[in-house]
Parts: sequence; C-alpha cells; structure tokens
Amino acid sequence: MPDDLILQNVPLAGYSTFRCGGPARFFAEPSDSGEVAWLFNWARGKNIEVFVLGNGSNCLISDEGFDGLVIRIGKNMGDLTSKELEDGRTEVTAGAGLPYARFGNYCVEQSLTGAEFACGIPGTCGGAVFMNAGAYGGETKDFISEVTYWDGQKICCINGSGCGFGYRTSLFEKLNREGKTAVILEMKAILSKGNKEEIIALTEDLRARRTASQPLDVPSAGSTFKRPEGHFAAKLIEEAGLKGFALDDSGAQVSPKHAGFVVNNGGRAKASDVMRLIDYVVEKVYENSGVRLEKEVRLVGNFGG
Ligand SMILES: Cc1cc2nc3c(=O)[nH]c(=O)nc-3n(C[C@H](O)[C@H](O)[C@H](O)COP(=O)(O)OP(=O)(O)OC[C@H]3O[C@@H](n4cnc5c(N)ncnc54)[C@H](O)[C@@H]3O)c2cc1C
Repeated sequence: MPDDLILQNVPLAGYSTFRCGGPARFFAEPSDSGEVAWLFNWARGKNIEVFVLGNGSNCLISDEGFDGLVIRIGKNMGDLTSKELEDGRTEVTAGAGLPYARFGNYCVEQSLTGAEFACGIPGTCGGAVFMNAGAYGGETKDFISEVTYWDGQKICCINGSGCGFGYRTSLFEKLNREGKTAVILEMKAILSKGNKEEIIALTEDLRARRTASQPLDVPSAGSTFKRPEGHFAAKLIEEAGLKGFALDDSGAQVSPKHAGFVVNNGGRAKASDVMRLIDYVVEKVYENSGVRLEKEVRLVGNFGG
C-alpha cells in the first residue's frame, strides 16, 4: 500500500461545515476497505490516534487541529446500487462516503418512499448511520437493513436491528464512546415503492420548511444541541433571551433565524469562539430553565478540560 495515501499537515476547516479548526497531522481518503485496514494498521504501528471523518457536518474541530490521523470516508467510497427484492421492495446499497442527500434523491428518483428527509441532511451515509440522523419524523434507523463496518481487525456485517439505534446514537457511536474502532463502510436500506408525485411533493415541502426555518447560508453544524426530553433546545435558548446572541464580534452567534443553531458568520470565528458561545448558552439555559443542554455537535481534537 502506498505511503503517499497519507498527507501531512492538512487544514481541516474546509472539511467541516463550521469552516473552522486547525490541521490534521496526517490525513487520508481511502478508496476501499483494504485501504481503511492498511491505514489503521499504519497508525497502530506508530501509536497514532485515528479520527474517522465523514462530511464534517456535525463536527467542531479544535483550532489546534487533530494530532493524529484523520481518515476521511468521502467520495472515494461512495458507490450506489439497488436491486428489487422478491417481495417487491427495493434494497439500496450505499457506500459510507456517499452524500446522504444523494442517497435520498436516488430514492426519490426510484419512487421509493421513506427517505425523503435524507435529501436535506448535508452529511455522508456513514455519518448518518453513526448519528442515526433524522428530521421531520423520519430517522435513518427506519430503513437500514444492514451495515458493514471495520472493527479494527476484520470486516463485520450487522443487521439493522443489531445497530442499537436511538436518538442521535447507534452501536457505532457507542463503540466510539468506549474507545473501540468501528468504521462504517456501507449501508443497505430497504424501502417500498410509493407514488412518485407524492414523494416529490413531500421532498419539496421538507426542503421549503428547512429553507424557511434554518440558516442554511451560514456555516454551522446544524442543531448544536440534542433535543432534551420533553423540551426543544431552540425554544429553551429563545426563552433564555439568546436568539441572535453573540458574546463578541468573532463571528460566533446564536442564529437569529433558528436559536438551535450556533453559526460562524463569514467563517471567521475560531473553534474556541464557537465553543465559548456554546458553553455560555448551556450555562444561561440551565440558569433560566434548569435544563442542561447536551451537545449534538461532536468535538474533534483538544478543547482543554
Ligand atoms: C445545515 C445543517 C443541517 C443539518 N440538519 C440535520 C438534520 O436535520 N438531522 C440530523 O440528524 N442532522 C442534521 N445535521 C447534522 C449532520 O448533517 C448529521 O449529523 C450527519 O449525519 C453527519 O454526517 P457527516 O458525514 O457530516 O459526519 P461527520 O460530521 O463527519 O461525523 C459525525 C460523527 O460520525 C462519525 N463518522 C462519520 N462517518 C463515519 C464512518 N464512515 N464510520 C464511522 N464513524 C463515522 C465521526 O467520527 C463523528 O463522530 C445538519 C447539519 C447541518 C450543517
């Protein structure tokens, strides 16, 4: 395997929708599971930490960057195929690096219903499985029939019911929390045919709702916080008087359009500015409501403490 698969000192801001963060000491975009395994072995041999990145649409990357190897599962691993099953449903197989919106649009093109919500989510299929991404009542778990992943030693296949899906969590997220390796390589989804006009109308309706309510033209990582049980994060933030709030002119701001999004105006804020604002919001909301918001955004690299 060529060592030139690995680049050094690669700026990561362009690989995160927050548009901030420092460089990766090492960076690679593998093309298949063989290269993923090779990269892990390379890092293990050198005692180097690994971070698996998708489209970086749910990550805040530290200003110091990541002092290890970032393995980006992107377009090199973005195959897409489908086949009709005997029962008339369709099985769609997507590489982990395929944009989730591309998967959603493909389902629309094929008149498959259930994945309309995916058309508006800016991550990869791997990131969507890891996070059990969802919107407008739909969740990734609704149609996943199988996931293939690399566990650090071998390629494993697990069916949908074994994926431990919950609100913004999965088996893979849990393994990651436990410090174990689980690189999602591929997902299979089973969906049923529906009425194409209705599917298109629903997709367009969801897109319009998203455009009307979310700051899609400003860098962010989507909803900064998870939905606390029995509450809505955006409502709690608004009630604490923080909609549109900024601590300073760094560019980090609670979106004036959607209080659940912390945004990076002009992409000029540092990750530390964004993080200071997130911490401030957590404290103020707690003071105001007694509810402690939990970050949905994942931190990459060192933020101190
Ligand atoms: C404008 C905007 C709107 C959004 N709207 C929504 C929404 O409606 N619903 C929603 O759920 N989310 C939403 N998000 C958040 C985000 O798009 C999702 O969480 C998405 O699933 C993340 O995918 P990603 O590829 O970008 O993952 P990344 O941000 O790159 O990574 C997220 C986590 O997944 C892990 N990961 C990624 N790929 C793999 C892989 N192949 N194997 C193992 N681990 C992996 C990473 O290590 C990391 O811990 C939004 C974000 C933005 C910017």
